[in-house]
Amino acid sequence: MNDTQINIGLGEHKLPLQGAENPSTEMQGTSPGSFALRATIGGSTTFSSPDTPGMPAPSSKTAHDFNPTPNANPVTQLEYARLGTITTEMKRVAQREPHLTAEQVRDEVATGRMIIPANRVHLAMGLDPMAIGRASLTKVNANMGASPVSSGIEEELEKLHWSVKWGADTVMDLSTGGDLNACRTAILRESTVPIGTVPIYSMIMDKKIEDLTPGMIFDELENQAKQGVDYFTIHAGVLHEHIPYIKDRLIGIVSRGGSLLAKWMIHHNKQNPMYDCFDDICDVMREYDVSFSLGDGLRPGGLADATDEAQIRELEVLGELTERAWAKGVQVMVEGPGHVPFDQIEYNMKLQRSLCHGAPFYVLGPLVTDMFPGYDHITSCIGATAAAYHGASMLCYVTPKEHLGLPKKDDVKQGCVAYKIAAHSADIALGIPGARDSDDELTKARAALNWQKHFDLSFDPDFARAMHDEDLDVDTDFCAMCGHDWCSVRISKEIQEFASGKDENYAWDKPKVSAALTVEQKEILEQRGVLTPEEVHKLATKVKGKMAITTEGKASCHSDAVDSETAKALQES
Ligand code: SF4
Repeated sequence: MNDTQINIGLGEHKLPLQGAENPSTEMQGTSPGSFALRATIGGSTTFSSPDTPGMPAPSSKTAHDFNPTPNANPVTQLEYARLGTITTEMKRVAQREPHLTAEQVRDEVATGRMIIPANRVHLAMGLDPMAIGRASLTKVNANMGASPVSSGIEEELEKLHWSVKWGADTVMDLSTGGDLNACRTAILRESTVPIGTVPIYSMIMDKKIEDLTPGMIFDELENQAKQGVDYFTIHAGVLHEHIPYIKDRLIGIVSRGGSLLAKWMIHHNKQNPMYDCFDDICDVMREYDVSFSLGDGLRPGGLADATDEAQIRELEVLGELTERAWAKGVQVMVEGPGHVPFDQIEYNMKLQRSLCHGAPFYVLGPLVTDMFPGYDHITSCIGATAAAYHGASMLCYVTPKEHLGLPKKDDVKQGCVAYKIAAHSADIALGIPGARDSDDELTKARAALNWQKHFDLSFDPDFARAMHDEDLDVDTDFCAMCGHDWCSVRISKEIQEFASGKDENYAWDKPKVSAALTVEQKEILEQRGVLTPEEVHKLATKVKGKMAITTEGKASCHSDAVDSETAKALQES
């Protein structure tokens, strides 16, 4: 038993309360609180789940160990923090996360367990600083970006604003088509949230990966750093010696950056240039305070390949690169999988915590089953909730279009909502002070059958109102789910001993006819219909003819192993 463990007895049953704070500021309700560990902000664990037996222990090292002499001419948030300085950005983070003081933010940044991804250029353009780390609330990233077959700058800007409206804390521009520079400039100009990119995409636009040189790498990093990009995904952890581990996988390499660099290494029979040039890459990034998102180029693309030799060997290298970046004064977070069976998620989170000395873990999902394409925002947000409880600091959303196509506006919303659910659920479970306050307020409105308050307090009020009014346009003492006689909440209100809805702030007098649905609410109801096969076919044929054809007459997205005629035939069929 942990010496902070507190057992509360309910008759014969002892609740395993480990000392984490109750996530309700006012200790409302009858629930005794979180089963997580007591938070040790400033220690090797901050908000943390209890370790299942066999989990790797936290590292005893921090960013301080890899730079014993702080840089007297600080540029990055990490360098300022290691000198003991509280920056304006740290103060802003503490303001946005009231459970933390500015001193705690500084101390967490100094240890490398928290990052503030804030390029100095983007700060000057209106970036609102935020933090990623286990001491702060769990964050959500939304991916967007034009592809060679779909979307343009206007559509991407719309997706940017849409994803921020639905709760994205950072946005990654993963464009691989159109004018990448113009699109990135427009996004940075309009974004108040940090923007991340995968710069290798721009390095090889209109070129073959085999032609990539160190000079091209530095030119593009400099270009994007000057534009104001806040964090770069750099796939420097996938090494030449890892490639043999891939051959027995069911689905090889699924990271674009990882597969491109593997192709480069095989072609040249040389080490990954991102690894070889890593210290110089740090120098470029330090100048603008661009943070690393160390890419997991060998992440599993299916459950059968999870936690395998390739993935773990790469993670060990990511630990080494974390130390090297810290020695150069650069902030680091580390990327993680992917597709992971539910039972392996805790181990994956705690191994990263150990190998990367607590540097924030930024995970994609993970999906906990592979057989629900079209619903992967759900399969992955189940894994994301577990990941956030056990160690991830930021969750990269997955939309219903994952594996199927470029997300459209509504897919972006569905992905954001799913991941806000995952992040918020984990924050409550971890006992982050105040994390449950909004839930408790909504519960009180629900108990009082105060429908308008219920909707106003919900994450998506229009959606909730539309759902309610689909069957009943009166706000009264029941809804269409059970009806008057069977409404347990109404019956509970009538039982004087424990009358629900007792909070006077939520009491309301009499049934009300609700206002007519707004245009948005009507649209929500209209979208509930399922598309007919004819409509699906009509949508599919809209993109016909938009596929880029190379001079050889082969679709640019097509495998080199397929000849041009077969590729064209497939495109036209
Ligand atoms: S009718 Fe049923 S679902 Fe609706 S408020 Fe009452 S108990 Fe809840």
